[in-house]
Amino acid sequence: MADYNAAPLRPDAALIKRALACKCPKCGKGDIFMPGFSMTVCAQCSQCGLKLSEHDSGDGPAVFLIFFLGFLLVPSALLFEYLFAPPLWVHGVLWGSMALIITLGALRYLKACIIALQFKHRPGDWAQTPEEDQE
Ligand SMILES: [Zn+2]
Repeated sequence: MADYNAAPLRPDAALIKRALACKCPKCGKGDIFMPGFSMTVCAQCSQCGLKLSEHDSGDGPAVFLIFFLGFLLVPSALLFEYLFAPPLWVHGVLWGSMALIITLGALRYLKACIIALQFKHRPGDWAQTPEEDQE
């Protein structure tokens, strides 16, 4: 069972800085993602060997983005409708494209942040067994 009280719950600027650069949460040098604008997590860090692919963040970043975009875009669309009353197609183009742009822009960095936070707050999950270290 993981010890969730192992790391203090305070912001770790260095860790978040590494995550926003999409670098390994342990060494800060190796890339988390495959080359290009990929969202696929590398099997392991090229610099320190930390196994990254076993700790994929799953749907977490998408869920956070859904909540954030809903909180941001729905009130904005309602206010825009109240103030300007544009045709329906303007709403579709404006808010649809804005949601797509924000999602594509933020998903990669949010995924890296969640992997970094998992690394900090769930250290037991990242421990390697002796058999794995001999590979
Ligand atoms: Zn590393």
